[in-house]
Amino acid sequence: MFKVTKFGGSSLSNPSQWKKVKEIIENDESRKVVVVSALGKDNERVAKITDLFLLLYRHIELGIDHTALFEDISLRFLEIKNNLDLSMNIEKDLNSLEKELNKKISEDYLVSRGEYLTAKLMSDYLGYYFLDAAKSIFVDFGGSVKYEETSIALKEAFLKHKKIVVPGFYSMAPLKKIKLFSRGGSDITGSIISKVLQPDLYENWTDVNGLSVADPHVVKDVDLIKQITYSELRELSYRGANVIHEETIIPLMEDNIPLLIKNTNNPFEIGTTISNVMKDDSNYITAITGKKDFVSFNIVKNSMFSKIKVLTDVLNVFNRYNVNIENIPSGIDSFSVVVEGIQVKNCNFELINEIYNVPGVQDVKIEESISLIAVVGRNMANIPGVAGKLFKALGDRKINIKIIVQSTVELSIVIGVSND
Ligand code: ASP
Repeated sequence: MFKVTKFGGSSLSNPSQWKKVKEIIENDESRKVVVVSALGKDNERVAKITDLFLLLYRHIELGIDHTALFEDISLRFLEIKNNLDLSMNIEKDLNSLEKELNKKISEDYLVSRGEYLTAKLMSDYLGYYFLDAAKSIFVDFGGSVKYEETSIALKEAFLKHKKIVVPGFYSMAPLKKIKLFSRGGSDITGSIISKVLQPDLYENWTDVNGLSVADPHVVKDVDLIKQITYSELRELSYRGANVIHEETIIPLMEDNIPLLIKNTNNPFEIGTTISNVMKDDSNYITAITGKKDFVSFNIVKNSMFSKIKVLTDVLNVFNRYNVNIENIPSGIDSFSVVVEGIQVKNCNFELINEIYNVPGVQDVKIEESISLIAVVGRNMANIPGVAGKLFKALGDRKINIKIIVQSTVELSIVIGVSND
């Protein structure tokens, strides 16, 4: 058994969190590759190190005195070192970084120091080899991973050192430039490493027991998802759930590597397992999510005109304005084009005008403030009556349904209702 294990910032916010991390690692010999985010925040330490570095960069850019801010950043690292009795000379790293703080420093390089320094301390704490992401994760100018180079470097280091700590969130781009992934990108690092080293499991340790069946900010005492497929997860993220970064999912999905979400503060909870296939008898609905503020363009066409022609011409109008289309519910002489409100906010009138000018279009009306609720479940396809239950639940509460879409693979049922 071999695991790649990633810890998020909240698992690393203070010395007592670090002790939990060490215990988790030492509890399981198979946790041979550890990926870390930068020190996160807690009740006392109100900012993430990444945000402090971003702020530091703004200070430098604007020529504002940054002495106190740099001191605050340094103290966060020193707190870990001193409390855990680490021998690593972090003071030296901090001193040389301070000397580099001038207008020539790149934002990505500066911000990446959060993960870099955290990983160095972690490697000292665990007795694992420190492998710099700048020497092992390579991307091209566009930010796509160069797997060949990355694979050579990662495999060589892993073979030689057996147990390694890698800083998350950044990589090496051409011209020797450090490049950050998007926020939360340490998950991506773990996923790239997993694609290369092919562990049995990629563990992602965070501060919740797992993924919830609905947004815990909306639904009280919400249940956890024990198992979910990558396809369901992608559908959920697309439909509005704030789950795992898309770039994290793809490499794992392609190579069939399961991902386990675990809670550093509650390590005995079973967590959420995500994988491609699973034999289970789970509930037919895995999770529910949704997004507000969609707009429906309701179009009536002249019955003499070909539906496909009018539809194509109308869709081309949206295409010209670069507007992504969410759904196209249709009838014989009418159809609607549902899009995210934000995408058409500044071109509403122009769009309507152009649609009116499409040959065969008789009328266009716009309906705003629609929410799309998505009910996602891999097993829904085999169970009759799911949609019936959903509609009844809404009907019983006198909620009018404006749109119904069920994907042909029946991974989700999407229901449009008023925002209210
Ligand atoms: N430290 C980075 C952030 O705050 C990356 C990460 O935590 O994954 O976004």
